[in-house]
Amino acid sequence: MIQARVNGVYGMRLAGIAIALIFGAGIQPAVAAGKHEHGRASLNVAVEGERLIIELDSPADNLLGFEHRPASDAEKARLAGALATLRDGAALFAMPPGADCRLRFAAVSPPEYGGDGHADFEASWEFRCGNMAALEWLEARLFAPFPGIGRLATSILAPAGQKAVVLTPGTTRALLPR
Ligand SMILES: [Zn+2]
Repeated sequence: MIQARVNGVYGMRLAGIAIALIFGAGIQPAVAAGKHEHGRASLNVAVEGERLIIELDSPADNLLGFEHRPASDAEKARLAGALATLRDGAALFAMPPGADCRLRFAAVSPPEYGGDGHADFEASWEFRCGNMAALEWLEARLFAPFPGIGRLATSILAPAGQKAVVLTPGTTRALLPR
């Protein structure tokens, strides 16, 4: 289902395939469960070589406050604002400066409106890090722009291991497996 949804977005598909390959041999990404619970979102993080790939899956309600197709000008503006905020991956994630990570691309899918009254956002980002050895932590800065996200179930897969943590507005930083 997720694959079908991102098929039209080339960059997203690349990242999705990469994540699927990376996670294929390891833990299941949280998005695979297909959970849709307002207030919760999932983040899958993979470190491979000098690439840091991050995928977000979130109910649209967390980011917009509604899940129907935008109707009013205010709702359309809110959707456009959320998409713009998501594309700015360099502002949504922080890493140790010494890791020298730079955003390579962001792929953001507008919500797809199904028949069940629910809709999800999917976004992915790829960073290239000049000094991956210094990538000791990753900080999610999604909670300020999107206060509807209360819990961010985060799965991390790195060469040194894998882990799952829950990030919240009070705990925004995840240590990477060392
Ligand atoms: Zn919903």
